[in-house]
Amino acid sequence: MNKASRLFWPVLITPKNAVVKQTEQLSRSQKLLMELGLIKSGSNGTYQIMPIAQRVVDKCISLVQRNMQEAGGQKISLPVLTPAQLWKKTGRLEGDISEFYMVRDRSGKQFLMSPTHEEAVTAMLATAAPISYRQLPLRLYQIGPKFRDELKSRFGLMRAKEFLMKDMYTFDVSKEAAECTYATVSDAYERFFRQLEVPFVKVEAATGIMGGSLSHEYHYISPVGEDTLLNCSACGYAGNAEVLGSDAETASTCPSCQSTQLSRVRGVEVAHTFLLGDKYSKPLGATFLNKSGKPETLQMGCYGVGITRVIAAALEVLSTEQELRWPKLLAPYDVCLIGPKQGSKEQAPVERLENELLQQLTQICGAEQLLHDERKELTIGKRLLDAKRLGHPLTIVVGAKAAQQEAPQLELHASGAEKMELSAAEVLRVVATHVQHKQQLLQQQQMPSHEQDTSESQAVGHVH
Ligand SMILES: [Zn+2]
Repeated sequence: MNKASRLFWPVLITPKNAVVKQTEQLSRSQKLLMELGLIKSGSNGTYQIMPIAQRVVDKCISLVQRNMQEAGGQKISLPVLTPAQLWKKTGRLEGDISEFYMVRDRSGKQFLMSPTHEEAVTAMLATAAPISYRQLPLRLYQIGPKFRDELKSRFGLMRAKEFLMKDMYTFDVSKEAAECTYATVSDAYERFFRQLEVPFVKVEAATGIMGGSLSHEYHYISPVGEDTLLNCSACGYAGNAEVLGSDAETASTCPSCQSTQLSRVRGVEVAHTFLLGDKYSKPLGATFLNKSGKPETLQMGCYGVGITRVIAAALEVLSTEQELRWPKLLAPYDVCLIGPKQGSKEQAPVERLENELLQQLTQICGAEQLLHDERKELTIGKRLLDAKRLGHPLTIVVGAKAAQQEAPQLELHASGAEKMELSAAEVLRVVATHVQHKQQLLQQQQMPSHEQDTSESQAVGHVH
């Protein structure tokens, strides 16, 4: 079980007379995460993740991983350092490279601290033993740090110079097969976002511009978003104004149905999918052997989820100015239990109830998901304030009313809801319902209405 007294939790204390620089605009997630000691600033644009927030990151990783495995993904790890030579071959060093971190080793060889790994993974396949068409599709993914020397890093984990990303690269025998892979991975993305229960918008990205290639972005709607999204309430069309071109910035009719019911919102891009064709496989010579044993160029796709950005953007959408609110599957703990204050008159009689409750809660949600705030030198009020600001889905207080002979009452504070006074049995039922809801989210399958190839839906059918 997790004990609050042992938690490393370096709360930011701002002296009362401190002058807060007005030039620095903080987002809600950044402000709360820093004030509450969940993240600390490393250097400008980099962040140190403290134990409570690390639990959230780990939960997000495991949820992404679960969905990638369901989409047929296999996990790998590629080095952060990619030889610059590879990027020269694909022409990507010819554009604006001001956001790349370039380093040299002692022999003078140049490397990129990779912001993305298309070159590295494609070169790896090109130098592997010949791949047979029978081994395809191949869906490889990794989760690791990415680097971008942002001109304006801001809003904490939303736009940092170092961030955590899941990136998947897929390889298929043909364009058609690559499109099937695209549909499968897109389904996994949509499932992941539904599991987080934060409203998201999937928008067309560069369709048309990249010559028939498919690309979509997933956004959370927030005033701190850096993209302008067009949303048509007549046909459901959604697009990113920036990639639709300059006309779209001022357009008053829907590009899809020409209706005028077009609205604009700010979006935070949290994921991106792309059908790449042979853009990387051709220059890097990544091929497979077809049925007649002849080499053919692999058809690729790439799929990213910004792990740390999803977390920050979800907090941005859900939280209030004073209190964090988490997606249920990402909250650091399910339940926080606060016991009586040391030396209070109810301490002795309610401690037995507190211990019983701890055991029962452990049975229901597991010791790992339980935070016991046993800092008994602090008042209940002070600890409750901390619990509310940290946004635990459920906080239980075993206080004075738990000492009543007849029908002892506990306080239950659900994140974002009014306080309830309940019996121990009722509290345990609420916790059980919460755990059950999480299970249901995890077991979500593809939406039945969703387009998918028949082999895929059969595979889903077998799971039941
Ligand atoms: Zn429309």
